[in-house]
Amino acid sequence: MEPAEETISPWSNAKIVGGKEAPGYVTFTFDDGPDLKSTPEILSVLERFEVPATFFVVGRHFAKPNDTAKAGAELLRDMERRGFVIGNHTSNHQHLPSLSTKAARAAIDGNAADLAKVLGHPVHLFRPPFGATSGPIRRMLRKGGKTTVRWNIDSQDFVRAQRKGIAERVLREILSKGGGVVLLHDTKSWTARMLPGLFEDLEKANCERLENGQGPILPVSLHYFLRDRNGTPRRIPSEVLKVTQKSYDRLTDQCTKDI
Ligand SMILES: [Zn+2]
Repeated sequence: MEPAEETISPWSNAKIVGGKEAPGYVTFTFDDGPDLKSTPEILSVLERFEVPATFFVVGRHFAKPNDTAKAGAELLRDMERRGFVIGNHTSNHQHLPSLSTKAARAAIDGNAADLAKVLGHPVHLFRPPFGATSGPIRRMLRKGGKTTVRWNIDSQDFVRAQRKGIAERVLREILSKGGGVVLLHDTKSWTARMLPGLFEDLEKANCERLENGQGPILPVSLHYFLRDRNGTPRRIPSEVLKVTQKSYDRLTDQCTKDI
């Protein structure tokens, strides 16, 4: 008989992810989509550089009875087929602490139900809009088996005036913090545009690190940052470990090419 754990989502009931859980690794997260224009552009860049990513999506872009939302739902299914991870970012990007308990529950669980309908399985990863929660909301999330994902590297790509220096800022923080969880937005055209440069510069920086005898800071799946509520690291699925190994091999290949 298979153990009961097999039926439990690997993403549910984990400790709040803050970004410092897995030194030497970086994971990229994109909020507020799906966006029919910039999300597909970002997906193809991620695939070109073989970088895993998680998308925290807002219900109004995929769970409304209009053609744009229907295309958004189809895009989400496509993202999952291509190996990207989907998380819940509420139904309408609400600032949760300003809502009544009932309205906050509807914003979170309503979107979870819509996601389950679109994807055909429950979605436990959650990111609060603006990173804003409160004691009662955190209790609600914990009771509902949700895993809250915060970040420790803020690209500030949401601010139009900051859009020029995003890649430099993110790379600087990845290197100074030794990795972490990067917050980006797949609704921004400039984020899609700067992404290839960021990944190229990260590869270059990693080659330098390897030359100096340091380990690289590898882009990985969010799996690496998950901890049980008691702090025990979650088991990383073998297919995810394989992707990381491939990314390490690709990097060392790339570094020898550059010399
Ligand atoms: Zn957001």
